[in-house]
Amino acid sequence: MYPEKIELLINGKWREGSEGKTEPLINPATEEVLADVPHASPADLEEALQTSKEGFKVWRATPPLQRQAIMEKAARLMEDRVDDIARTLTLEMGKPYGESKIEVGFVVDVTRWYAEEGKRAYGRIVPARIPGARQMVMKEPVGPACAFVAWNFPGTNVIRKVAGALGAGCSMLIKPSEETPGTAVAIARCFQDAGLPPGVLNVVFGVPDEVSRHVLGSWIPRKVSFTGSIPVGKHLQKLSAETLKRCTMELGGHSPVIVFDDADVEKALNTAAGFKFRNAGQVCISPTRFYVQDKTYKSFVEGFTERANAIKVGNGMDDGVQMGPLIADRRLGVMDAFVADARDCGGRVTTGGERMGNQGYFYAPTVIADVPDEAKIMNDEPFGPVAPITPFNTFDEVVERANSLPFGLASYVFTSDGGKAAKMEDALDVGLVGVNHPFVAMPETPFGGVNESGYGSEGGIEGLDAFLRTKFVTEVGV
Ligand code: NAD
Repeated sequence: MYPEKIELLINGKWREGSEGKTEPLINPATEEVLADVPHASPADLEEALQTSKEGFKVWRATPPLQRQAIMEKAARLMEDRVDDIARTLTLEMGKPYGESKIEVGFVVDVTRWYAEEGKRAYGRIVPARIPGARQMVMKEPVGPACAFVAWNFPGTNVIRKVAGALGAGCSMLIKPSEETPGTAVAIARCFQDAGLPPGVLNVVFGVPDEVSRHVLGSWIPRKVSFTGSIPVGKHLQKLSAETLKRCTMELGGHSPVIVFDDADVEKALNTAAGFKFRNAGQVCISPTRFYVQDKTYKSFVEGFTERANAIKVGNGMDDGVQMGPLIADRRLGVMDAFVADARDCGGRVTTGGERMGNQGYFYAPTVIADVPDEAKIMNDEPFGPVAPITPFNTFDEVVERANSLPFGLASYVFTSDGGKAAKMEDALDVGLVGVNHPFVAMPETPFGGVNESGYGSEGGIEGLDAFLRTKFVTEVGV
């Protein structure tokens, strides 16, 4: 059974939408309806905005140590409730239950990290020109904040915004994805049960474009943080311009994987294939373009195909399943279109390339070799379990090809040559580089892209800074 009742959280109270509108929540593995998702009416959104203003006043006046105590208690509640939260996550999103448990663990880590780091929002003293003057640079919470997040990491995407804001002393009004609402609700319940004051965290759902137009049209939020696709990110930035909100944009990418002949190929295969199909490829930092040097190319394609064939696909609640379904029906057609276009361009499908079964949105782990650079999948983010592989010859050639798209989120390099690794680290036009391993996302390290992948970091001290503003104070004769 689906463990969560989906409600709106406004001013510390859990409730239905005032106009009674709802939408069904679908399990992508079974196509069953799990629950009804309430929609916030314009009046509900207005109340959430006003209460986030009041919540901000209370929270910014709460000393960081007390904020930390509440956030720590919330983290402990999440640990206590991990089984139910992970079950909710798998049922609504599809990823294997074991991966959901790891994600909830990450949510706990992020909460603790920001709770701690909030105590270190240090300013500085600048030596004065005027005798007797004192000059102080102070860091203050930026104001009430809002966020809109995608469905692919229903816990991680939410907590990076919520804990960052709360750690810095901001209130947060968040619209999680209507396709994965229960995880966000379960996390918010932990904060409420830990004693978070009313209005500090508000959670709403609705028609995304209507909600974001209403919330971003208001002067109240002083900051917006978004995780999702590039077109939506650009749209939200435009909506934020009228009231000059600060933005953090964590958008899509198209991550190149570069495998040199001197790499440990077995290790590269195990790492890259495992990472490619994690979350069915629905990860913003998923490896999406594989450039493999000439001598290694043939064996890499064979090894990758073998590993793709060995993946157990199924309902994420079943034992041993390594890859679940895509989030929704619409994504199956997108995968088919990528595969058809790659075939038309001369690509060779070595495994997969089609939907699996006719119930649930399962797509076979797919490998396409010899894909030319002009194929659609080499230029548009696939966001699914399809891996295009292509050979390269020289260092300079692969740098140019890797940097040829407008995106710049993650990139991965496999080599045993330290000098080559350092040159690649410098040359890649991206926000994240993983050399010989893929772990580029941790609570304590900055995470974010460049160019059309967005700007601003989540994680690390940069993630706290995103919710702070700077004030300069100079005084004399006091
Ligand atoms: P989409 O752009 O329609 O939706 C992505 C998310 O943004 C959804 O959760 C949705 O609720 C939200 N959203 C959409 N329109 C919005 C609006 N006007 N205001 C506020 N929120 C809005 O894409 P999709 O079909 O769900 O997913 C596929 C694409 O999204 C992929 O191609 C991928 O690039 C991108 N994506 C990126 C990430 C990421 O982590 N960067 C996550 C999920 C999806």
